[in-house]
Amino acid sequence: MTSKEIRTHFLDFFRDKNHKIVPSAPMVIKDDPTLMFTNAGMNQFKEFFLGSSSSKNPRVADTQKCLRVSGKHNDLEEVGKDTYHHTMFEMLGNWSFGDYFKKEAIHWAWEFLTKVCKIDPNNLYVSVFEGSDDADQLEMDKEAYELWKDIVPEDRIIMGDKKDNFWEMGDQGPCGPCSEIHVDIRSAAEKQKTPGAELVNKDHPLVVEIWNLVFIQYNRRANGQLEPLPEKHIDTGMGFERLCMVLQGVQSNYDTDIFTPLIREVETITNSEYGKSEKTDIAIRVIADHIRAVAFAIADGQLPSNTGAGYVIRRILRRAIRYGFTFLGTNEPFIFLLVKVLADIMGEAFPELKEQKTLIENVVREEEHSFLKTLEQGLVLLDTVVSTTKGKTVDGQKAFELYDTYGFPIDLTALILEEKGFQLDEEGFQKAMQAQKDRSKAASEVSKEDWTHLVEDAEQEFVGYDTLEADVKLV
Ligand code: ATP
Ligand code: MG
Ligand code: MG
Ligand code: MG
Repeated sequence: MTSKEIRTHFLDFFRDKNHKIVPSAPMVIKDDPTLMFTNAGMNQFKEFFLGSSSSKNPRVADTQKCLRVSGKHNDLEEVGKDTYHHTMFEMLGNWSFGDYFKKEAIHWAWEFLTKVCKIDPNNLYVSVFEGSDDADQLEMDKEAYELWKDIVPEDRIIMGDKKDNFWEMGDQGPCGPCSEIHVDIRSAAEKQKTPGAELVNKDHPLVVEIWNLVFIQYNRRANGQLEPLPEKHIDTGMGFERLCMVLQGVQSNYDTDIFTPLIREVETITNSEYGKSEKTDIAIRVIADHIRAVAFAIADGQLPSNTGAGYVIRRILRRAIRYGFTFLGTNEPFIFLLVKVLADIMGEAFPELKEQKTLIENVVREEEHSFLKTLEQGLVLLDTVVSTTKGKTVDGQKAFELYDTYGFPIDLTALILEEKGFQLDEEGFQKAMQAQKDRSKAASEVSKEDWTHLVEDAEQEFVGYDTLEADVKLV
């Protein structure tokens, strides 16, 4: 099944169950001071759960463009290193606003996965909220347990704690237990060695969570107490790229037809080969992932900049550029060439990519051009640092300045120093880094919740690039 077919099957399935299929909300949020990027399918329906407005349609389904690079959901550091977390991804979802509840949500999810997608039920595990001993004194979710027991053998039902199986929007508001569905795509031999049940929720790359079914049945009041909601809701989210990995019989999201054309293009342009060395593979995955986040953001009208959402996007793009520079040896803009490939893969489902293609290409190429120049100038500055260093260890504070002020990546600094026969004072670097983190932590966003209050913080702004030429005081 191609990814296009999989997406269509999902939407058709829920359309047949009387769901209204709605468009994805923008990935970049402009009118909510508490959230910069959509990080889950339910964001655009927040008002319905809060009860401040009601939906015309009690049943809705869609595929939502999500970005998880800040706040409560920040997967950036995993991206590229693992094979199933992305910065930008599609979340397939179905919702009930005061309409159907656990029974239908569970049965339909199971029907879709096993009948439409034909996933072998022997490869599936489900989880149920086990209850809590804390102030909430919540009972286990017996209702969900009984429903699952009719479908799967009991040894496939995993009990989960609040961290994995209880969803809250924030300190206050609607919340409830959830059931997640996990798929085991290991080889038969591996399955013999360790039961899949032991690997659920253990960050195993081949025993992965694909679908989260949230049962919104409580409201948390301002005093912290939970009260049952008069109207109960369903909120589900399934990782589209992970579902495609399972259905296309591969063991990495990057081996699906969503990513392989991008990877082939990177291989061709950079004369590299995917699947031969871990470092090259990570770099290629980072680039194939990040161009999606950046292209979708620009298509939503968010250009890279030095503040707010634009700064986040700029940093994602720069991360891709430096992975190319460091590990694929690229010193000319090339990531912009991937936009065309991306528009071919996803332009049908998301026409904005096709409509904005030229703009996206131009913006990305210009960013690449500037940052590559910064990287090259950084090399010169590093030479000066080295020539004024007494002994063989380069001051960590100086390396940090290069990193912080000029955006020169520390792993690159370490690599170059090593080549020159020098070493980096890692401890000094970490100390400088920690001091800076402490400074910005106090003023930056509180990141515990789905909705966070962003505090304007001048210190967070990246000023290095613009002041590079005027301010060469590094050594
Ligand atoms: P995980 O535990 O794997 O990080 P999660 O519990 O954070 O996932 P949810 O918030 O429950 O994820 O989101 C619903 C679904 O979205 C997940 O079941 C998963 O399939 C998918 N998903 C979550 N984060 C990502 C990501 N960074 N990239 C791709 N898919 C994701
Ligand atoms: Mg997560
Ligand atoms: Mg999880
Ligand atoms: Mg989850």
